[in-house]
Amino acid sequence: MTNTKKILVERTDPVLRLNARKIEESEIGTKKIDTIINKMKLAMHAENDGVAIAAPQIGESLRIFVVNGEVLALTNKKKVVPNQELFDLVFINPEIIKTSKKKKKMEEGCLSVRWLYGKVERYEKVTLKAQDQNGKLVTIGASGLLAQIFQHETDHLNGILFIDKAEEIEDLPPTTDLKSKHEQKAK
Ligand code: ZN
Repeated sequence: MTNTKKILVERTDPVLRLNARKIEESEIGTKKIDTIINKMKLAMHAENDGVAIAAPQIGESLRIFVVNGEVLALTNKKKVVPNQELFDLVFINPEIIKTSKKKKKMEEGCLSVRWLYGKVERYEKVTLKAQDQNGKLVTIGASGLLAQIFQHETDHLNGILFIDKAEEIEDLPPTTDLKSKHEQKAK
């Protein structure tokens, strides 16, 4: 294991509680922003259960989040072929512009809040508007896990952690041999 784990800030770091700032048009595509995005991907992939990550989780108070390409493939019901290159999706200045009326309680965990898990009420479907790494505007409709991820990550950009909203919070460190619980994904 490399020291990539240390990229993630501590749970008590005030950066996790800030309202992250918008990325200016002139910043998109710069070395500075691309380096931050690469660092986010590294930190996410260093965790077995990392499905997504927001910039504040690595100490950058910026409106960026990344979703693991493997999760995207699975939510699109595509078969993941071993050694297939999967592209992580980058969202800059993301905004949830539409939600379903229906909500659902979903199991949640977070890379920044180890090792807590709980149930959070999330909209079943959301529409996200954002810019990609090149600044192109994208609008994506999502349901299920991806919709949950979009809401969890948008919360991060607004200084909100899932434990602020969760019910039935349990502390399940990996040593407690609760295998099935650890198949849950952390964001
Ligand atoms: Zn999180």
